[in-house]
Amino acid sequence: MERLHKNGILDLGTKVITVRVGQEPSHTDFTVHESLIRKSSPFFEAALSRQWREATERLVKLPEADAQAFKLYVHWLYTGHPNIFITGNPHSSDRTQLVKDREIELTKLVQGYLLGDYPQDCDYKDTLADAFLEWGSRFWSGLAQPFKHAAPIYSSTTKGSPVRELIVDFTLWTQRHTCWDGVGDDELPNAFLCDYIRAREAKDRDVAARNSSPFFRFKGTCHYHCHSDDTCYREDIDSDDDIPHFDSLFPEGISDDK
Ligand SMILES: [Zn+2]
Repeated sequence: MERLHKNGILDLGTKVITVRVGQEPSHTDFTVHESLIRKSSPFFEAALSRQWREATERLVKLPEADAQAFKLYVHWLYTGHPNIFITGNPHSSDRTQLVKDREIELTKLVQGYLLGDYPQDCDYKDTLADAFLEWGSRFWSGLAQPFKHAAPIYSSTTKGSPVRELIVDFTLWTQRHTCWDGVGDDELPNAFLCDYIRAREAKDRDVAARNSSPFFRFKGTCHYHCHSDDTCYREDIDSDDDIPHFDSLFPEGISDDK
């Protein structure tokens, strides 16, 4: 990644910090280069730039964060690529396994995205939003049940958050009517249901939109990004090789949409 290079050479400096993730004593410690995480994360930049305890102890605690999701964030910090690999063979004839695999992938995407709120890392969230779109454009993504992730998304985000729109669009465009069978009365947040109804109405009204899934319409755009007027992470990358190619998420031979 361009941001890690100085005169074309990888330069992370020598200072490292410890990030303690999860509740003590069952926490997980991660060692990360300070320059790297400060450059990407406004939260770490603030925590380490003042004479706060975190800066002197070189230890930042994230007790509420999930260690598995933070591990994926660290992977992205060092590589620029989200580690949301496809599980198993998406063309397998074992439907039970297919449904299970899609749920694992979707859970990783959602947990990864929500983890991005701790470091307030917009580039990370936008990279995952793009991975989300790529994943959603695959025909077998309809096997997952996105609305089941509405509760954690709506409790961790505010109105207007792009990931809310993402999960609503996902539900609207990948689910059959029968998907609602067995959903408990209190399982879905009211705000999600309101957003879903509005999106459904808009879809019915707009003929052009009705025939064009957002997974294709918004691919390559900033529609689900959170950077507002700030520079998009894609523009920060000056080499094609460094742009996350989401085809690499898929094992060889199964990167088609057929
Ligand atoms: Zn963007």
